[in-house]
Amino acid sequence: MSGETARVAVVTGASAGIGAACARRLAAVGFRVWLGARRLALVEAVADEVGGVARALDVTDAESVAAFAAELESVDVLVNNAGGARGRDPVTAITDQHWRWMWEVNVLGLVRMTRALLPQLERSGSGHIVNMGSVAGFEVYEGGAGYTSAKHAVRAITRTLRLELVDRPVRVTEIDPGMVATDFSRNRFLGDEARAAEVYRGVTPLTADDVADCVAWAVTRPPHVNIDELVLRPRQQAAAHRVHRAG
Ligand code: NAP
Repeated sequence: MSGETARVAVVTGASAGIGAACARRLAAVGFRVWLGARRLALVEAVADEVGGVARALDVTDAESVAAFAAELESVDVLVNNAGGARGRDPVTAITDQHWRWMWEVNVLGLVRMTRALLPQLERSGSGHIVNMGSVAGFEVYEGGAGYTSAKHAVRAITRTLRLELVDRPVRVTEIDPGMVATDFSRNRFLGDEARAAEVYRGVTPLTADDVADCVAWAVTRPPHVNIDELVLRPRQQAAAHRVHRAG
């Protein structure tokens, strides 16, 4: 497919994990992919691999988001993937810094990107917003409120957007994974490898590519078909807090 005619997909948080896997999958099904994240060297490496475009992007920074959006005339797919968690403390022990980080990236970042790119999504004639939610968007667990409340907000925003955009040519999908083997837990526990490894002990988690497969499937349905939400988890994880560990 030539650069002029390829449909455009934007992926936020494309430097690692699920975002990088989405960029690879979307390129494989024919999209011209624009990849954004803060660690530009990592984004460039993935973009080189898939023939995409790499840009530094901080979804918590309005100027960064505006500069990213200004380069795009038309966008077919926006994958709002940038996000993550900080800590596993009780509600009253979470620091303001961690509350802010989780809400800024997962919630406000998603809103900023959606607001900035909605004109381009409409201009494409068949736009599609894919929000990376989580089972944390409808389940809670002790020590998880900073993250689960942010993902609950993502779910509320996704469902509201679907109502507000019903008369426009823009689909709205939420993908809700359970446990996925990425840097998510390493980042959540600020580099504590042992604590991160414990999350996945005795479990075969989802891979980032399992999630990207769902994203690619949702965005390649015919334009009149809206996949509202898609929940996927490891077989050994019946709920966020109910995990069967082998051995
Ligand atoms: P990850 O490996 O930690 O990747 C997080 C990505 O978000 C990185 O590419 C990071 O890039 C980007 N990011 C963080 N802050 C950003 C910012 N301010 N601006 C732009 N990009 C930013 O974790 P992951 O598992 O792939 O997570 C991706 C998404 O899946 C998140 O929304 C997460 O909540 C969701 N999710 C993960 C799991 C799981 O178990 N792993 C389960 C359900 C949902 P830079 O650091 O380079 O900016």
